Formats: sequence, C-alpha cells, structure tokens
Amino acid sequence: MTVCSTSRPSPNFDARQRPIDLVVLHYTGMQSLAAALDRLTDPAPKAGRYPGPWQSPAIDPETDLSRVSAHYVVARNGEIFALVDEEARAWHAGASFWRGLEGVNHNAIGVEIENGGHDFGLPDYPPPQIAALNALVWDILARRRLPVSAVVGHSDVAPGRKADPGEHFPWADLGAAGVALWPDFKAGTPGRGLAGPGSESVEVLGLQEALAGIGYGTAATGLYCERTQACVAAFQRRFRPERIDGLLDGQTLDRVTAVLELSLLMSLPRRSS
Ligand SMILES: [Zn+2]
Repeated sequence: MTVCSTSRPSPNFDARQRPIDLVVLHYTGMQSLAAALDRLTDPAPKAGRYPGPWQSPAIDPETDLSRVSAHYVVARNGEIFALVDEEARAWHAGASFWRGLEGVNHNAIGVEIENGGHDFGLPDYPPPQIAALNALVWDILARRRLPVSAVVGHSDVAPGRKADPGEHFPWADLGAAGVALWPDFKAGTPGRGLAGPGSESVEVLGLQEALAGIGYGTAATGLYCERTQACVAAFQRRFRPERIDGLLDGQTLDRVTAVLELSLLMSLPRRSS
C-alpha cells in the first residue's frame, strides 16, 4: 500500500481464488484497539483471552474461537495498521454474498475500523479516523482501478447476521470524499409501509430484482420472505439509517432506485480521455 501504515503482521490468511474487486468495511466491535489487534493476529484464539458480551461468562476459557483477520485496521486516531498482504485472503467476512458470489473473502480487501459497535453503545467515528479511512480506500480504489460501488459494509454482504459498521457509520461522508456510493437523495420521510413479511406481488419482485442489481443476496420470488426483510434492513442501515425495520416504504423504494441507478452508472467502463 502507499498510504502510511504500521506493520502488524497476522498469520491468519490463505490463498485467494478470485481477483480483488471489493472492499468490505467493518467495525472491530471490541473494548479496545489492543484487544482487536490481538484477536486479529492470534493464531490460536481462546475464549478466556477475549471476554465480552459476545460469549457467556461461564464459557470454558480454553474453548477455541475462530481465527480471524483483516488486511487493515484503522484506529480512532487515524493510525493505519497493515495485517495481511492484499494479495492473500484475510478472514473477515465469513459466510457472505455479493453480486452473485459467495464467500467474498476470496475477492475482497477487509478493513476493520476501531469502534466498539452495537455491544458498546455505537460510539461515533471521529473525523481523524474517517479521514484516514478515506485516504486508505481512495488508495485501494485507485491502485486496483475499482469503482466506488466496490465499497460495501459487512452488513451488506451478510444481512441478518452482521450489522457492522453500523447505522452511525458516516457513509455520506465517504460519498462526499468519493470513496463510496452516496446518491443525492431527495428529501422526505419514510412514510407508510408498502410491503412487508408475507406480501406477495409484482412490486416485491421488482424490489428483489433492484436489490440484487445493487449486489444484495435477494432471490427474485415475489414473496417478501425473511431474507428479503433482512436485505431491506441492511439497505436501510446503510442508506436510510433513520428507520431500520426491514419493511418497504416509499422512501426506501426511492432510495433503492437511486442507489441502483448510480451503482450501474459507476460500474460502466470508464472511457480514457
Ligand atoms: Zn465485520
């Protein structure tokens, strides 16, 4: 990488089976930067070393946890740690799906952002941290010649299972910096629900096709299933965080359309000038 970083190598990686075309943003969701760096570089993590709300206090401390990692960690003060070489596969997204592909670790660069997340009161992301993140993502997109539509949240690729980087993450700021999709949304309010669990209609089919066009893992069945609701909630968490209920309302539909249009536009091959 070309952005200034501190090397903190992690042994938790293996070989990619696909070329890089995605950047997945996470929050660390732990008590401290030190704990997150320890966990992301630990070759044999045990439950007893990482106490927290994600596990019962009664758990056997010798219980093996899964080995995890990311390519980069961005600290609250803006310091960037490089853990895994971009050419290798880091283990950050787990079971995941985006734009027709399962297991996105094979084609993604994973960036962990120091933040306690939902388990620790959803702290805000301070400006120096977001400035450093923007520089890092800009550098990745430029070097890899990727469109801004390549930048997603963990919650986008694992709806219903993951909620990071969370509804306090400033996606609009990333949009303004040119490192994430952020359409110029019309003002408005969520309004009345148009469809929800159990609904079955051509409108639901259209919604599913639009979400799948953006990249979400919705099957086009016309039935508002649990999966559809989880994908709508993931979309809202990122693009309409004022109300995250997984129900289709007018504002959500407007925003799905706007994001799909911009995403398609951004994905067009760029003409050299
Ligand atoms: Zn994550």
